[in-house]
Amino acid sequence: MSSDVLVLNRNFYAIHITNWQRALSLLYLGHAQVVDQEYRTYDFSNWRELSQMIHESHSGFVHTTNFKIAIPDVIALKGYDRLPISEVKFTRRNIYEHYGYKCCYCGKKFHTVELNLEHIIPKSRGGSTSWENIVTSCIACNIKKRDRLPEEAGMKLLIVPEKPRWKGPGSLAFQSSFKMKVSWQRFIDNVYWNSEIEE
Ligand SMILES: [Zn+2]
Repeated sequence: MSSDVLVLNRNFYAIHITNWQRALSLLYLGHAQVVDQEYRTYDFSNWRELSQMIHESHSGFVHTTNFKIAIPDVIALKGYDRLPISEVKFTRRNIYEHYGYKCCYCGKKFHTVELNLEHIIPKSRGGSTSWENIVTSCIACNIKKRDRLPEEAGMKLLIVPEKPRWKGPGSLAFQSSFKMKVSWQRFIDNVYWNSEIEE
């Protein structure tokens, strides 16, 4: 049984997976709180108290001489909105944020579901999946442009695509080998948004 613990930042974005030892130590030191399936949070003493009353825990218990404590499935860090990362990761959320949730061709603002990631130089022509060649585009503009260069489609980009200089929300440092737990599923939307996009 895996006793990995999903780590959220204080905005409840999934940012990391850690082992239970580190999770309990963050909890004990007051740097993190346990998050349950109803999004309730518990500090160390509340969690320890609750642990005495429950008989089953997905990931088991740790027993000390005086008490037992359940290994949490999910914890949230208290101090960080953002991960201390050195550069902006190439993730969907960061790309959408960078372009202000606007279509880079018509300039209108959209909901995330109405925006696509668009290769300026089409992939079929060797365009890369990178900050320099990916912009946000609405579905109408996407359909209009098709598999062509903007100038071929008579379209003009409103911005110069580039890598942003701000530090984005914490990005997930997931290895491909991690095992997704059922209890993490309500947080996996964040995985989609914060995972680095691979070509
Ligand atoms: Zn558009």
